[in-house]
Amino acid sequence: MRTRAALFRAVGEPFEVVELDLEEPGPGDVVVSMAAVGICGTDLHQVKGEFQRPTPMVLGHEGAGVVEEVGSAVRGLSPGDEVVLSWAPSCGACADCRRGRPAACVPLHRAIAAGTLVDGTTGISFRGETVYRGTATGALAERVVVAAKAALPTGGGIPLEEAALLGCAALTGVGSVLFAARVSPGSSVLVLGGGGVGQFVVQGARIAGATTIVCADPVEARRAQALQLGATDAFDPADLEAGLAELAPEGVDYAFDAVGDPSTSAAALGFTRSGGTTVIVGLPPTGSRLDLDPAQLTRREKWLTGTMYGSEDPAVALPILLEHVRAGRLDLASLVGPSYPLDAINEAVEASLAGTPGRVLVTP
Ligand SMILES: [Zn+2]
Ligand SMILES: [Zn+2]
Repeated sequence: MRTRAALFRAVGEPFEVVELDLEEPGPGDVVVSMAAVGICGTDLHQVKGEFQRPTPMVLGHEGAGVVEEVGSAVRGLSPGDEVVLSWAPSCGACADCRRGRPAACVPLHRAIAAGTLVDGTTGISFRGETVYRGTATGALAERVVVAAKAALPTGGGIPLEEAALLGCAALTGVGSVLFAARVSPGSSVLVLGGGGVGQFVVQGARIAGATTIVCADPVEARRAQALQLGATDAFDPADLEAGLAELAPEGVDYAFDAVGDPSTSAAALGFTRSGGTTVIVGLPPTGSRLDLDPAQLTRREKWLTGTMYGSEDPAVALPILLEHVRAGRLDLASLVGPSYPLDAINEAVEASLAGTPGRVLVTP
């Protein structure tokens, strides 16, 4: 079996679209024909050299498509089903998986660091050379072979360009509010960063019933979008301190750092009220260190935590998000950015690096 895919070789080199060899799917695998793949911050970390992972690699882990073929042992999925890819199919056996936290699965994170699937293989090669998989997925391709539990059915009725966003940004952003922080109605929420994930944190806060939702981002278009999606106020980071002095003089109940830079994480903690909760959502570059005043945690009793992929099993979280989409509470359409064919992968990555509002999509 073969597929065309976008190959990332090294920092500073353009992606190359090549035809890869795929190993035949096993009895528990499915073949998914990709319809739309979002360019996520994690992909950009790699493009910028902020993560060290093996190459050549097929990046992309936020995608939706149509099941093309199912292995003999697969139940509950059939050719033609529309699916969202989950990058945390997990091992199912480690302590984290058994506690229902597959996004924290140790073998999964080992696999992500090694550029493989959870079983240690990649199943793809180019002219005999192993090709690695970004975030245990490798979705920037016309077709991918994944374990059946990594293909979650949408039930149809949602355009695949929109459904793609559910696969990482929405599960991460909305999940950080509903499943990690468990924001209660009437709360005040601060969101640092109005990119793909940040806009979903804003929507999660609205869905959770937060009554003050402040978003900070240096890009005007992103602030405008946050206001449309449920933020009650939006500021340039330079004006945030003055703005919050009016809106939440004691600090906010919950502050989410959707950027993941040590400086934004420290700022989020600083803007949290005594006893409030700070959640790091964005992924920091490898080697980052946080410099904090411990008195924020002792004398002021703040809670500082982080979340990965919304802190819930994607197989549990996705149906909940789909329900919010169908009920009109979770807006995917206005977060869909420009889309590019696979052959224009380099333009797509450029657009994403430039901070284009909305998720930049590749439609293989
Ligand atoms: Zn992602
Ligand atoms: Zn596990």
